Amino acid sequence: MNMDTVTVLKFGGSSVADNIRLNMVAEKIISIKEEEKNIVVVVSAQGKTTDQLIKEAKELSAVPDDREMDVLLSTGEQISMSKLAILLKRMGYDAISLTGWQAGMYTNKTNQNAKIETIDTTRIEEELKKGKIVIVAGFQGINEKGDITTLGRGGSDTTAVAIAAALKAKHCYIFSDVDGVYTTDPKKIPDAQKLPTLSYTEMLEIANEGARVLHNRCIEVGKKYHIPIITKSTFNDKPGSVVQDKIEDTSVKSIVKNDDIILVDIYEEENPQKWLSFLWKLGIDANHFMIKENHLYFTIKNSVLNKFQEVLEKELQEKEVKYHSISRIAIVGHGIKNDTTVMEKVLKIIEKNHLEIFTLEESESKIVIMFTKQVEPSILEQLHEDLCAQNKFI
Ligand code: ASP
Ligand code: MG
Repeated sequence: MNMDTVTVLKFGGSSVADNIRLNMVAEKIISIKEEEKNIVVVVSAQGKTTDQLIKEAKELSAVPDDREMDVLLSTGEQISMSKLAILLKRMGYDAISLTGWQAGMYTNKTNQNAKIETIDTTRIEEELKKGKIVIVAGFQGINEKGDITTLGRGGSDTTAVAIAAALKAKHCYIFSDVDGVYTTDPKKIPDAQKLPTLSYTEMLEIANEGARVLHNRCIEVGKKYHIPIITKSTFNDKPGSVVQDKIEDTSVKSIVKNDDIILVDIYEEENPQKWLSFLWKLGIDANHFMIKENHLYFTIKNSVLNKFQEVLEKELQEKEVKYHSISRIAIVGHGIKNDTTVMEKVLKIIEKNHLEIFTLEESESKIVIMFTKQVEPSILEQLHEDLCAQNKFI
């Protein structure tokens, strides 16, 4: 079989959430099947199924057994894949659903955050040769002991791109409830433009800044195996955004503003550094550690603040810890460093608005500014206007 002809389509949890949406997904698959002979579909669990399963397990045990959690969580994707196969068959299309292990997804041993090691595509290829639409459960695999593993939250994207790489597919579609990748959040800035293309590095930066379009591990797999990833909406026919290899490109692609950050300031007369190992052991996702005079500063997400306060305040006096809500703005675009006008424009806006910077970092494809306070939405508007609005991406 000429494997160049394989197309991989992935549908996220909200796309398969109920029977009405499953019908829309089936229609979409059928319309693509008319053009492409070999189709592999990867599905997530329906709606909030995975969250619900985690909640139920935690009702039974505060620390559920790792192995059994993977057995439980992998059931979500089995429900959506079998429902979709039942539906496609009723509509007259031959389809077959395969679990991660039936599809040859071999992973390492790490429960709930397993990494894909190899994919034995024999079964998928056999079923494609029979003319079937092959539906694979995302997010799951099997380890060398023959036990079920899962790939970490949002991992179905990674299943899809990894299968596309193993089958040397032309590209991998990631269908979801968003239209693609924008120059900034279109809910905040109506002038935001959809990007027709962007590089893997740019997409990784955007994903790491918290834009929830793609799972970051899937972007890494796409980059490594040169698989173009097309993000599109399940619910309309608008063109999406293509994440692909790019040789050179210097414009600013996207600006991400994050107001969900807490700057923690611990005051310690003797040795603020001593808190580092304590924090490390807590296992809370903290970033941007900085020690200055008698203060240790770092950032955490707003969502972990309560848990964090609980633990920390047992150890420290209240007066020694301060929490500030701050904003972080990331300006992403390959080659930003080579274009000095970008930084000039950014600094001009910061000065004009009398904003106080906490940290400023510049790398090959990103400028990140953390402010000492939350900044107004109009700052994002001004940055977008000066850095993105003149670029006509379409
Ligand atoms: N169902 C899993 C989750 O909710 C995997 C995925 O949706 O990609 O994290
Ligand atoms: Mg998802």
